Amino acid sequence: MKSAAYHKLWAKIHQQAREEHLPLRVMFELTYRCNFNCRHCYVPKSWRRRKELNTAGVYDIIRQLKDAGCFYLGFTGGEIFLRRDIWRILGFCKRQGMQIILYTNGSLIDGQAAKRIADIGVNKVDITLPGISEKVFDGVTGLKGSRQAVFSAIDSLRKHKVGLGFKTCQLKANQGEIRAIEHFCASINCGHRLDDSTSPRIDQLMIDRAKPTKAFICGGGITQCAITPAGRVKLCPLVEWPKIKISRDNSFNQIWKRLPQMIKDGECYKFCPAGLGRLTEERCVIQ
Ligand code: SF4
Repeated sequence: MKSAAYHKLWAKIHQQAREEHLPLRVMFELTYRCNFNCRHCYVPKSWRRRKELNTAGVYDIIRQLKDAGCFYLGFTGGEIFLRRDIWRILGFCKRQGMQIILYTNGSLIDGQAAKRIADIGVNKVDITLPGISEKVFDGVTGLKGSRQAVFSAIDSLRKHKVGLGFKTCQLKANQGEIRAIEHFCASINCGHRLDDSTSPRIDQLMIDRAKPTKAFICGGGITQCAITPAGRVKLCPLVEWPKIKISRDNSFNQIWKRLPQMIKDGECYKFCPAGLGRLTEERCVIQ
């Protein structure tokens, strides 16, 4: 599909999801474990031992998300390929007819894994590229050999024609390589986005609620949300609120329907590392 037509269709789908309050895009954090120790990581290391849903629990939530109208499911972490059941989860999700995006550091994707990703029909693999040289790359990730593993994964994924996207968190350590990273992504016809706003770590928020200065509207609770590894609903990966456990007595849909009112009554901006979340002069706006 031509890019303009795609954007038009996407805008239409998004508008409809807003009007009907559908959870169009959900980020599912499958684990907080990770084999890297990136300087820019917003997940506290102490969270790596946190409880995770078992496979049946993940399936149950995917089913509920599908029934509630979710179409784009992003699997993120931590590093998702540390989960032993990742292949079963991806296959199950695809059978539900959802679009899948994988957010991964890429280091655990070997040739065989790349083929499995392609066979399952994953729509996109999004990899963080912190550098081009081994010195910078491994320096940011804190893991020797990480550059080699990730670039080898990129080769394998390209060989199997898997859709790829890249992002880089701009740091002092990699500022001399940003151009080279962009050049590399362009050379293999892949998109690259620069994340120049480093998010504060989730457990160290310092937001001055007394002096609101700016506002924006996000889609959290309106067309998107996130699920924690333990199966709790929150507004987005960065906002640790309201964190309501999905259970037999409290389905995803029941929680989802309550979110707009909770956002109005609550103060999600208190938890938003982007600054002031959806705060406006009237306190908050649902669009
Ligand atoms: S790969 Fe991602 S989750 Fe792992 S340490 Fe780096 S930023 Fe954190």
